[in-house]
Amino acid sequence: MVTRKSRREIDKMRIAGRIVAEVLALVESELKAGITTGHLDRLAERHIRSAGAVPSFKGYGHKSNPFPASLCISIDDEVVHGIPGDRVIRDGQIVSIDAGAIHDGWHGDGARTFVVGQPPAKVADLIDTTRLAMMAGIAAAVPGAWLADISGAIEDAAAPGGYGIVRQFVGHGIGTEMHQEPQVTNYRTGVRGMKLVPGICLAIEPMLTLGNHEVEVKPDGWTVVTKDGSLAAHFEHTIAITDNGPEILTTIA
Ligand code: MG
Repeated sequence: MVTRKSRREIDKMRIAGRIVAEVLALVESELKAGITTGHLDRLAERHIRSAGAVPSFKGYGHKSNPFPASLCISIDDEVVHGIPGDRVIRDGQIVSIDAGAIHDGWHGDGARTFVVGQPPAKVADLIDTTRLAMMAGIAAAVPGAWLADISGAIEDAAAPGGYGIVRQFVGHGIGTEMHQEPQVTNYRTGVRGMKLVPGICLAIEPMLTLGNHEVEVKPDGWTVVTKDGSLAAHFEHTIAITDNGPEILTTIA
């Protein structure tokens, strides 16, 4: 079931969203060659908790293998759900960072791909296109449109560059749970889906690759990598659909 949030509830999600945006800005300011992914994770967790929130990813998943960290940090061919630890970030890598926070019971979820150093043009284009595809999906999230309009806008932004559009992981509704209905695919499925109305909150999160769309999960049970070893980028915002159109909640504004 898709829940519609009240204005008061969206106000609460805005707080969670701002904390997520602050974490991503903090991580961006600290990101450089030579530091470990675990260092970034500790900074993020400290910030989330000091803001009176809880990291949503830590302990997420099945109890036999809960996610052990506050950030997902996915490097190069890792698409999403990379586990921070002792790994040292090197010059030239692309680093996708996904952050989630729960404040007063409400979730925010956001991600960005950063580059360490100067990327080759085709890598910069991949990252730019992924961000623009996310923004195109957000722009399509207006009252009266259909869920499939978001998916189509993302696909149309990604397709001309020939990028792989990851299909196995998709965007989602969000609110008192990190993952709620509906699923937001990053490609057309042929199904129109629900009509978009004010109060629907979504995490819109395209994942694009320089190769094809196929991914697999590494033996750690979490890290998702491209099957062909190609580089991948990931951007995500939590948004609310309002009477005035889409509002990005994972922002510091
Ligand atoms: Mg998400």
